[in-house]
Amino acid sequence: MKNWKKALALVLALSLCVCLLAACGGTTSTNTTTNDADKAADTEAGGELIMATNAAFPPFEFTTSNGLVGEYDGIDVAIAQKIAEKAGKTLKVSDMEFDGIIAAVSTGKVDMGIAGMTITEERKNNVDFSDPYYVAEQVIVVPEDSDIASAEDLKNDKKVGVVIGYTADTIVTEDLALDEANIVRANRGIDVVQDVKNGRLDAVVIDSYTGIKLAESTGLKVVEDEEAFAAEEYAIAVKKGNSELLETINATLAEMKENGEIEELAAKYNDTAVEEEGAEADVEASAESETQAEDEASEGEVSEGEAPAAE
Ligand code: GLN
Repeated sequence: MKNWKKALALVLALSLCVCLLAACGGTTSTNTTTNDADKAADTEAGGELIMATNAAFPPFEFTTSNGLVGEYDGIDVAIAQKIAEKAGKTLKVSDMEFDGIIAAVSTGKVDMGIAGMTITEERKNNVDFSDPYYVAEQVIVVPEDSDIASAEDLKNDKKVGVVIGYTADTIVTEDLALDEANIVRANRGIDVVQDVKNGRLDAVVIDSYTGIKLAESTGLKVVEDEEAFAAEEYAIAVKKGNSELLETINATLAEMKENGEIEELAAKYNDTAVEEEGAEADVEASAESETQAEDEASEGEVSEGEAPAAE
């Protein structure tokens, strides 16, 4: 499946958008006053920069035998490493349930949350977000022979799985207003996707990149519905007022967008051969496809219409 090509076009479009904003000096929502408490927390971290994540979200974060940081690997881990480098600190990964990340960040237990996390108004009440670095949307993962072809079809008494606290949870619960009895919630995407595989569920609503990865590794199909699912921007969460770290993060992201590193990471991790026999959710990253991916990326059309408004 080559949906990542479309994704790359979106990333390129977003980068363009962000660059344009940078050129205009448009850092509208950044609070530039430095909070002394956060500075103290940073120093106390003793040279460590702790990222909270939920390492069950390939290709952004997953565990593997030989990861970038211990067993942890993925696009977000690679980005976090660059941020740590820029901050002169050593990256430490704190793996937790997705639902706990915002609290860990807002109480200062960790320095930042990097977890393919969509910017939402509700989350903005509790944390500050960096500039966006990725664009995704929701998809529906179904069996090959499923009659589900749109989000509307889910209302047809289908049993639908989501991960607790993901934007998909809000979408099926509030936007699609599915019958509560038909919604099944789990802590990891792979768990609900396995339930589709073994027939316990009719569908899973989940972020596109992860949905594609998980569908490929389990032999399921992905249904897109661009009318029903809006584009979502992924960003990095920091404790409210921690403008020092936020500036380092945004500077790192801007650099990585400009020099093509974000695109390279997208290509590298999205093109991982998950079709391989017995491939599991813990997908091994492969750097082999980088050249091919770059070629294909340069073919990708950048449509400004597809780029969401950057913060
Ligand atoms: N983008 C989704 C959200 O923010 C899912 C993120 C994730 O699973 N790591 O809710």
